[in-house]
Amino acid sequence: MTTNRLASLPAVDRLLAEPALAGEIAAHGRALVTGCVRAELAAAREAVRAGAALPDVAALLGAVARRIEREVRLNLRRVFNLTGTVLHTNLGRATLPEEAIAAMVEAARHPCALEYDLDSGGRGDRDDLVSDLLAELTGAEAATVVNNNAAVVFLLLNTLAHRKEVVVSRGELVEIGGAFRVPDIMKRAGAKLVEVGCTNRTHARDYEGAIGPRTALLMKVHTSNYAVEGFTHAVPQAELAAIAHAHGLPFVEDLGSGTLTGLEAWGLPHEPTPREAIAVGTDLVTFSGDKLLGGPQAGILVGRRELIARIKKNPLKRALRVGKITLAGLEAVLRLYRDPDRLPERLETLRLLTRPQGEILVQAERLQPALAAALAGWPLTVTVEPMRSQIGSGSLPVDRLPSAGLVCRPQKKGGALNRLEQALRELPVPVIGRIADNALWLDLRCLRPADEADFAAQLTRLPAGAKRRG
Ligand SMILES: *Cc1c(COP(=O)(O)O)cnc(C)c1O
Repeated sequence: MTTNRLASLPAVDRLLAEPALAGEIAAHGRALVTGCVRAELAAAREAVRAGAALPDVAALLGAVARRIEREVRLNLRRVFNLTGTVLHTNLGRATLPEEAIAAMVEAARHPCALEYDLDSGGRGDRDDLVSDLLAELTGAEAATVVNNNAAVVFLLLNTLAHRKEVVVSRGELVEIGGAFRVPDIMKRAGAKLVEVGCTNRTHARDYEGAIGPRTALLMKVHTSNYAVEGFTHAVPQAELAAIAHAHGLPFVEDLGSGTLTGLEAWGLPHEPTPREAIAVGTDLVTFSGDKLLGGPQAGILVGRRELIARIKKNPLKRALRVGKITLAGLEAVLRLYRDPDRLPERLETLRLLTRPQGEILVQAERLQPALAAALAGWPLTVTVEPMRSQIGSGSLPVDRLPSAGLVCRPQKKGGALNRLEQALRELPVPVIGRIADNALWLDLRCLRPADEADFAAQLTRLPAGAKRRG
């Protein structure tokens, strides 16, 4: 019986000859479309065997079209980040300013003078593209760039502290996002960690007492994703630099997030800058390109010329170097910092961080009817509410930014929130929100006004009810 029904499923060639697939074949090639047809017929056979009704040709063609759409779509997909965390590591951290995007496209499209000195016609150094700008913006003598901040810290320790000791306060043995842990990086770099002080208090005498013949450097790690509060003491950078220098050692600081300008000018909390670190005598400072700096993923090292020259000679520098597209974006972003007055309009990260709550609230009110209409069949209410965003990526961990957005609250028990969260993820441009306190929170800080219409339009594709789709 089932075998007879299976026999009436169309053959692969019969489906491929359907006019509806001619366009798909022209767009994506016969091989891919044939593969999708075979896969859908196999799925249909399976379903029929399990007792489902025999699909007609139109249903099969629809399923094939959906499968082709999934197959040709890029794996790295754009999303709407409505999590309330602006620099979200899992969502790619900083979104870049147009100036950087244009420079990256140009570098991708054309040959470029990446390591070629256009004055002499000889070989150049890719770091030269940004090192003068970095020196100007931080007050440092020299700079170099590698793949990310973890890589800079690793390269620095491997060059200056291999088989030697590095003194770090116990209050600063940071873990960032699970994979970057100061003690682990230290070990892999071949350096021996010497912990001093206690979690809450470390004094100058602790550092003094730990310095010995095998000490390579003193290091401070910015506790970027947590705060130690209460009965605490940390030795100021200037004092640490002085202690290091009295023993002929370098003092190094891993800043993590590196904004090149004082954020308090725009009402944001103060985050230590590389310039401040250099000014108080720090010999080397490391920071990320894609955190508060607002550029592409990169790890930046600024500081003393002689130390940076040694670090650049490490063969691992070659293994950790950045590509032309990263350098193009980074240079364009750094150039924006030369005109700090216009930064919040031009630097996307800063624009997002400084969006006033009132503006976001108005945006939420504009969008509420569309979401409420799309969810009319769901046992949920949709309200406009104030909320608090965070900067993210270990920047300014305690401070929250007044924001606003849409809140979906269930009217009764029954898992509607989780189904909504999933349905939002399945939209053409997935929407990523946050479930907390028995509600789904969509913080609109990172929804650019230019994207608002696209966001609203795709809400009509949400399933009509809260029932799980087949
Ligand atoms: C974020 C961070 C790192 C790691 O930087 P990546 O750019 O993710 O490699 C290292 N140290 C500190 C203090 C950080 O905040």
